[in-house]
Amino acid sequence: MRLSRYFLPVLKENPAEAQIVSHRYMLRAGMIKQQAAGIYSWLPLGLKVLRRIEAIVNEEQERAGHIPLLMPTLQPADLWRESGRYDDYGQEMLRIKDRQDREMLYGPTNEEMITDIFRSHVSSYKDLPLTLYHIQWKFRDEMRPRFGVMRGREFLMKDGYNFDVDKAAALHAYNRHMVSYLRTYERMGLTAIPMRAASGPIGGDNTHEFLVLAQTGESEVFYDDRVTSLTLGQREIDYDDRTQVADVCKEFTTLYARTDETHDQAVFDQVPEAHRKVGRGIEVGQIFYFGTKYSDAMGAEVTTAEGTKVPVEMGSHGIGVSRLLGAIIEASHDDKGIIWPEGVTPFPVGIVNLKQGDSAADAACEGLYKALAAKGLEALYDDRDERAGAKFATMDLIGLPWRITVGPRGLANGVVELTSRRTGVSEEMSPESAVDRIAQIYAGV
Ligand code: ATP
Ligand code: MG
Repeated sequence: MRLSRYFLPVLKENPAEAQIVSHRYMLRAGMIKQQAAGIYSWLPLGLKVLRRIEAIVNEEQERAGHIPLLMPTLQPADLWRESGRYDDYGQEMLRIKDRQDREMLYGPTNEEMITDIFRSHVSSYKDLPLTLYHIQWKFRDEMRPRFGVMRGREFLMKDGYNFDVDKAAALHAYNRHMVSYLRTYERMGLTAIPMRAASGPIGGDNTHEFLVLAQTGESEVFYDDRVTSLTLGQREIDYDDRTQVADVCKEFTTLYARTDETHDQAVFDQVPEAHRKVGRGIEVGQIFYFGTKYSDAMGAEVTTAEGTKVPVEMGSHGIGVSRLLGAIIEASHDDKGIIWPEGVTPFPVGIVNLKQGDSAADAACEGLYKALAAKGLEALYDDRDERAGAKFATMDLIGLPWRITVGPRGLANGVVELTSRRTGVSEEMSPESAVDRIAQIYAGV
């Protein structure tokens, strides 16, 4: 993308309404625009990151054997009357009437609808296990929408629902979600710690929230700081292997890590003092096992191998896709702007032409742009007729992890400069080597 033709409405001033750094940088970098309280347009740069995050979520869900579908945002109230939640949900639910005076709602979550789909089409244990998920907009009329995309009213969520014949199979689905979520967050450059949580209006006993540590987080968290160094890394996971998957979960949930809702001071006091930490965290996901709560209420039954009919065992599992942009920025920025991890960056690399109009510099930039594209890497090429300082400031603000700087002086010696946004370290090299280095870096992402 050539910056001269792009739509990147960068703000020079700090927007007064933004209280936390991620909200400030998302507005300043021209990623989002607020349209009403907690409701945002996604401008091109923001949309690119959102799509990257969605892509990672999809890849990891499909790797775990979970199947994508797409349910609508609007739902009939009657489905929610079956579970009893139409009355229970309260003011967070946005209720709408259509022209026939039929009661509708903008979905805050999809347990009822997915249970309806299931009961319409599945009736035998032979069709299980089954996990269906979608990535769809939700609406919750939050009391205090704030912090930009962190607590929106309209927000994008991945929500997945498992259907299993018995509790053991459903708990395996729960574990599978935990492991797939760990991998998902790691690919986004995040450390998200599974913490034992309390179940809210969805109900159920077995639940973990995934928290990214950040001073600006809304949850108070208590943890043994050795959990922060656990990583899944590149290890091979066989998602059908119940023991292997359960062992990974055990590894990640044995050290103390809880939110204020489930915190137990007496147990926490057993953690060696040097490792006992209290902090704040951002909830970027949650998994639940809730058994037959919805299948009982809505008559979703399956026939077992023995020929009896049982209500199907279920769980639901969510990732805050749009909130993740904020969480990643909270975890990865400096005073000049965002620092995107390679996994989610809107563009893998920026090209800064120090002297637009200089024929050698222009030609070198064009050459780099095309060579990168040939390797499947879309550069953001700042081809505007601007001062170098302004170009650097924009690149630093929008946070591309790598920048190639091209100027007549370097070119006279056959070199360009490759700079890491994270470390600030620059290296001179030939344009070809710069392209190879970038390609190498992204080959592993
Ligand atoms: P919270 O406690 O933050 O209100 P929740 O527990 O009600 O969230 P879940 O039902 O667990 O939310 O939804 C799954 C995920 O969706 C959450 O872990 C969070 O990352 C995201 N999410 C929930 N509410 C919002 C919101 N208002 N804006 C953006 N993301 C949200
Ligand atoms: Mg939650």
